[in-house]
Amino acid sequence: MKYLFGIDIGGTNIKFGLLNIDGKILLNESIKTNSEAGYDDCFSRIAEEIEKMRVEKNIDKSDILGVGMGIPGPVLHQEIVSFFANFPWEGNLNVARILGEKTGYRVKVDNDVNVITLGEVWQGSAVGYSDVIGMALGTGIGGGIVADGKLVGGAKGAGGEIGHMTIVPNGKLCGCGKKGCFEAYVSATGIEREAESRLAVNKNNKLWDIISKKEGQKVEAKDVFDAAKSGDEFSLDIVDYTTEYIAHGLSILLHVTNPEVVVIGGGVALAGDILFDGIAAKIKKYSLPVCMDGLQILPAKLGNEAGIVGAAALLLN
Ligand SMILES: [Zn+2]
Repeated sequence: MKYLFGIDIGGTNIKFGLLNIDGKILLNESIKTNSEAGYDDCFSRIAEEIEKMRVEKNIDKSDILGVGMGIPGPVLHQEIVSFFANFPWEGNLNVARILGEKTGYRVKVDNDVNVITLGEVWQGSAVGYSDVIGMALGTGIGGGIVADGKLVGGAKGAGGEIGHMTIVPNGKLCGCGKKGCFEAYVSATGIEREAESRLAVNKNNKLWDIISKKEGQKVEAKDVFDAAKSGDEFSLDIVDYTTEYIAHGLSILLHVTNPEVVVIGGGVALAGDILFDGIAAKIKKYSLPVCMDGLQILPAKLGNEAGIVGAAALLLN
């Protein structure tokens, strides 16, 4: 049996998985990222953790196929991180080479949402498909595009950065500095902004009943979906507004790569049918029938383990 390491590095924690070649996770670990100590310190600790896990499972070094890692930010050629979204580390860092030297294994690195999409192709909702779009709807929006079985990285590793497609010229301001980005409308943050601006002028609704009882009276995207599910017209209209923009944004991508499956994950996707039914109902009017032919829009399956499973999948791709 051969084995793989999958690593999901985030701003706070680094998650590790030791998997067998069939995709079964044999061991899970997590350590603090502590990125302020610098990348050299961080990668040394990663190498130590990997060695500890290998010894714990009594696996021969020659049976380890390598280490895959998902990281927030654009990654070039599955080696070089162009810039780090969450860490105070210098850009254009050859993470694959540095970690390869520290561990002695083959290392492949890619953007975190690209990796999650690959995980869904290997073990999740998109098994058996070669043209897939993955979308993570969370605080922001990330995307991963698999075309003809391969991840699309592009010239600078920014392929799949769908959150910053402009879908409304001169629209709402985005955290990236541009206006009208996809994520300014349909990320959890975007949904919360929209709800707050509407609540400012209308408090006669179930959403306000929920929010007004919360400490700090802060709207969360989940509150909007919960109120909508209970029949609140005010919240149903926000969900309608949101699914309209998701359908519009996705339809653009359908015409670029003509996927067989779109997999949607992240916190917002947990809203379930109310979200997926809304997207399915609206996407047709934006899309050519040939792009809709056989298209499936599915929730992601892998959940919290998507990052480590997908990172391991980099070594098989
Ligand atoms: Zn943006």
